[in-house]
Amino acid sequence: MLSNSSIELDRAHLVHPVASWRGHEQSGVRLLKSAKGATVTDAEGRQLLDGFAGLWCVNAGYGHESVIEAATRQLRELPYATGYFGLGSEPAAHLAARLADRAPGELNHVYFTLGGSDAVDSTVRFVRYYWHARGMPQKDQFISVQQGYHGSSTVGAGLTALPAFHAGFNLPLDWQHKISSHYAYRNPVGPDPEAIIAASVAELRAKVENLGGAERVAAFYVEPIQGSGGVLVPPKGWIGALREVCRELDILFIADEVITGFGRTGPLFACEDEGIVPDMMTTAKGLTSGYVPMGAVFLSDHVYETIADGAGAAAVGHGYTYSAHPVSAAVGLAVLDLYENGLLENGRKAGARLLAGLQSLSDHPLVGDVRGRGMLAAIELVTDKERKTALPVSASPATRVFDRAWQNGLIVRAFAQGVIGYAPPLCCTEAEIDAIVERTRTVLDLTLDDPDIRAAMR
Ligand code: PLP
Repeated sequence: MLSNSSIELDRAHLVHPVASWRGHEQSGVRLLKSAKGATVTDAEGRQLLDGFAGLWCVNAGYGHESVIEAATRQLRELPYATGYFGLGSEPAAHLAARLADRAPGELNHVYFTLGGSDAVDSTVRFVRYYWHARGMPQKDQFISVQQGYHGSSTVGAGLTALPAFHAGFNLPLDWQHKISSHYAYRNPVGPDPEAIIAASVAELRAKVENLGGAERVAAFYVEPIQGSGGVLVPPKGWIGALREVCRELDILFIADEVITGFGRTGPLFACEDEGIVPDMMTTAKGLTSGYVPMGAVFLSDHVYETIADGAGAAAVGHGYTYSAHPVSAAVGLAVLDLYENGLLENGRKAGARLLAGLQSLSDHPLVGDVRGRGMLAAIELVTDKERKTALPVSASPATRVFDRAWQNGLIVRAFAQGVIGYAPPLCCTEAEIDAIVERTRTVLDLTLDDPDIRAAMR
């Protein structure tokens, strides 16, 4: 198919996620054609280093033959099996068992979904069922964190704290509440880790009190590193301190590892970074490395047992046609093999190189903050380092920074507030990491030349 006609078909008929629909009618689509390793090729033959692994999901990199073969074999043998009526498939059972084995603590039960949003949705349903089963249905209030992202379903978008997901959608729902982010670079209590942890602990306790006490609060949701909010890395000990508050108050603690799972921060799951075990954990993206859709909810023994006993002989009425899809499960197994046979290790080394490389850009006049862990990082641009002045809206950082990177053969995530996000595939070579950093320097220089930036710096 000719790419020109594809562009026109896209413009006329394809509604893009999280896009200005009118803006898209004007700008049209950039079609991607093929990909291998950490490089994607567009319809015009331009090669780009994918510094964002698709949408922080192609953790293994593109074009692994073992994954393609696993999917093809499964498509031939059994392309679909429902999990209803007590039926199932071999790859789904094996993937669940291997994940349970590798997950922290007693997270021994796996519920497969199609992606991250329905994984988050599923946890909300399980949380409610759990408290009903324990005879405490009045525990029905949910707390999450400002700047957090928990998907795009109505329930998940309400737990999300990004304005674009609320405006015009009547969200958040009245049982969904937030506490402040740890956001060290711009935290009102300053950058001191202990002060940030103490403030968050105090705020969570106060929020619970305001909601009528722990007997009203069902669950607390947290990303080990906030992704879509701008790659915000909490101080060491932050997540553990909040986990302890939840344990003490008998509030379920849900870790949303949709981005941070599957080697993104170093270990298989970011919870391992701090030795914490949530009551439930959501994953997606790197689970299948984006080759096919799949998400997973991990349930701890005590959550699983409580729900199972509560339901008794009755069905727990929650399920999707494509839960535990055999092709996705086969891909998940093949990808897990890759993680365990060198990819996690490579990602850890490449991640350290990436962060060091980005830190070497700190002397650039526009770089206010560099942060990250593993293959998840960001630099925050400012026009005045002392005052931490964000880039002006007139400089359209999201579009112009993305465009400059693209023109220089690099794909990054450019956030509206002037943050550049990185989540490259774990398979990146040292040369590729260095190229990401070098191309970023070019992008920064070009951005410094932008008349709107110059005007703001005067
Ligand atoms: N939770 C987090 C932390 C995410 O970053 C995302 C997506 O980026 C989701 C949930 C939703 O996942 P999906 O887009 O697969 O529905």
